[in-house]
Amino acid sequence: MDDILTLDGRHVWHPYAAVGAPVHQVVRAEGVRLTLADGRELIDGMSSWWAAIHGYNHPRLNQAVHDQLRDMAHVMFGGLTHEPAVRLARRLAAMTGLDRVFLADSGSVSVEVAIKMAMQYTGRSRLMTVRGGYHGDTFGAMAVCDPVNGMHHLFNGALPGHVFAGLPPRDLDEAYLRELEDTFLRHRDELAAVIVEPVVQGAGGMRFYHPAYLRWLRELTEEHGVLLIADEIATGFGRTGELFGCDHAGIRPDIMCVGKALTGGYLTLAATLCADRVAEGIGVLMHGPTYMGNPLAAAVANASLDLLEERPWREEVARIEAALREGLAPAVRHAKDVRVLGAIGVIEKHEPVDVPRVQKTAMDLGVWLRPFGRLIYTMPPYAVTGAELERITEAMARAAE
Ligand SMILES: *Cc1c(COP(=O)(O)O)cnc(C)c1O
Repeated sequence: MDDILTLDGRHVWHPYAAVGAPVHQVVRAEGVRLTLADGRELIDGMSSWWAAIHGYNHPRLNQAVHDQLRDMAHVMFGGLTHEPAVRLARRLAAMTGLDRVFLADSGSVSVEVAIKMAMQYTGRSRLMTVRGGYHGDTFGAMAVCDPVNGMHHLFNGALPGHVFAGLPPRDLDEAYLRELEDTFLRHRDELAAVIVEPVVQGAGGMRFYHPAYLRWLRELTEEHGVLLIADEIATGFGRTGELFGCDHAGIRPDIMCVGKALTGGYLTLAATLCADRVAEGIGVLMHGPTYMGNPLAAAVANASLDLLEERPWREEVARIEAALREGLAPAVRHAKDVRVLGAIGVIEKHEPVDVPRVQKTAMDLGVWLRPFGRLIYTMPPYAVTGAELERITEAMARAAE
């Protein structure tokens, strides 16, 4: 048989890549380390895209999947229910104050469901958001991603035209509050919802913004009967230093999406939560994925939330934040901006980075990074040690030079 990389190059698509783009073969993942087929060991600076917060091959998460597998791997959720899904829904409701939970099979799908909820509830179809956002790759979600870096031009004609306010600034800016208000008031009668990522804009540019804007959107939407959708898929479960991004602003949205770290990086699962009043206003929600509420995914999500409850994640994230601040500070000399919030560290260069070159520099120091655009960034597992963080920040700073 041909070797895996050759076959990969011949048959496999990878995310946002042309066919045949270079990849590395992983044979094992343990704790915060990835082992490559050639024996190299890399510290994972990416948590497999925000997901693996507890690290890989975790005995408790493994056990949860094993135990659930003995009872059932999957049954349809139409007309049937089971303990792992019900327990998960109850605890997500308790964590968020939103009582009704729709289990979806990926973050993008949970955003589609959130949009459907808002449209069915209000009878309106337009959404408002801000530039610089990322909400997923399916069509409904894509339409509220940043119009430029979300590649809207590739799918022009298939995307509904939504309302975009400008990029939310990091600092408090009265003029931007007015811009949000003006944009909102101009369109309020046609808006089903405002959708934003709370406080941190992830894949749209790794930007942080002042929580006052979120609070202002909450006030405006509440006053004018428009729903507020918080996409917490990246920010949820402690990543920003609070349990949810909305907690920085002290607000509760009407609809919330969670995903990514929900299963600790084990299986694909997301959820769309809404207030009871929204659920009651909708009646029959027209969505139902085949693998909805998958018991294996729900069981490992429950175990991951158990671990999160047990671990001192606030202290861990604060420790990571301090180490990222210290370790990345020297990189300002070679960058447009260096920013840190919670367990997220970003170096923004003036120019687009040479991705293979940055990855090679990092891999030579034993670190896995996946830069994009002008950004070299990390969101390590919460279990990362101080020494590993030093390696990650050294690799990022070295790569930025
Ligand atoms: C990753 C992400 C999504 C999409 O989730 P998938 O599971 O990749 O479909 C949506 N919104 C935000 C904020 C994300 O970070």
